[in-house]
Amino acid sequence: MKNKKLNDAFEYVKINFFPRWDKNKEFTIVYDCNLPSGASYVAEEKKIKVRDIPKNRDKLLALIIHEITHCYTDGHGKKFRDATIKKAEMAKSKGLNKIYDLLIMDYDNSLIPSDIGTHKYVYRRLSDMLLDYPEVPYESALGCMADELNMYPHKVEKKYKQFRKFYEKGKRDGLASRLVFQMQAVNSCR
Ligand SMILES: [Zn+2]
Repeated sequence: MKNKKLNDAFEYVKINFFPRWDKNKEFTIVYDCNLPSGASYVAEEKKIKVRDIPKNRDKLLALIIHEITHCYTDGHGKKFRDATIKKAEMAKSKGLNKIYDLLIMDYDNSLIPSDIGTHKYVYRRLSDMLLDYPEVPYESALGCMADELNMYPHKVEKKYKQFRKFYEKGKRDGLASRLVFQMQAVNSCR
């Protein structure tokens, strides 16, 4: 659903932070009350979808900067973090100090945690992924983790022996929580 507040903020962010991006106006932003997470970029539709629209304007702008960055970088790896720092510097040069702070916070949050590679880390990441996208196939979840860990998928399975078990559990939990969410959304969308 189109939303004026989102559209206006999107245009502002494009002009001020991404002046050379989306010249052909292919990308759009919409409100989606059924989104399983607060906001996400859907590559197949070239759409940024937002469920939780921040009331605070700076937070809204920082959120849109984050999501636009996802339009050309996957995940929160180095490319994403470098782009975020660049946008933070732009905010500072424009005197938008609150946005600078928010983007730096975003950058800090996407730094690689020190426990990466531990069993606990891998199973937690897997559970988080399935909570957001319970329909992700096993092979994709495995491939995703393998990428993050810089390992071959079969090595991931070998090292993290309970990977499949946690996958099945995460999927069940994710589907269950989505069901609860949808039941709540039926009411809140009206
Ligand atoms: Zn993100």
